[in-house]
Amino acid sequence: MASAIKLRESEALKKAGLRISDPKQRRPLNELGEDWSLERIKEDCRLAFKKQRRGFSETSYVAECSPNLRSQLIKIGQVYVGWNTLEVTDYIDVTCCTKCQMFGHPERYCREKEPTCNMCGENSHRGVDSYSMCYLRKIQERRIRDTSDEL
Ligand SMILES: [Zn+2]
Ligand SMILES: [Zn+2]
Repeated sequence: MASAIKLRESEALKKAGLRISDPKQRRPLNELGEDWSLERIKEDCRLAFKKQRRGFSETSYVAECSPNLRSQLIKIGQVYVGWNTLEVTDYIDVTCCTKCQMFGHPERYCREKEPTCNMCGENSHRGVDSYSMCYLRKIQERRIRDTSDEL
């Protein structure tokens, strides 16, 4: 802390035109309201498992919780954990083929010859495998790049 104050008062930084300010206060863990203390959330909720799709960097955390907490979470749609904003959705476990994108069978039992892209639905490519061919994936990638520039 002392070194932070020293840094803030640094003449060299001021001369260089740099300004030091405190980080902006992020919103707290959740917007569930005062009824939901961290202790109560912990009691009502437990991590069931986490899931990472092959080729994707993000991880999904599947939690089991009381119906009451579930409806609150679904209503607000996102929670803040540390510096991250996490999207909250229902987890519905239905097998979806990663080749043809149809439900009810895994890829190893798929009878389709041509793969279907999970982003745009075209048959000429698969999302992750032929990245450059998918226009929707390109748009999404550009959007992610643009938002991270703003941070
Ligand atoms: Zn299939
Ligand atoms: Zn595509």
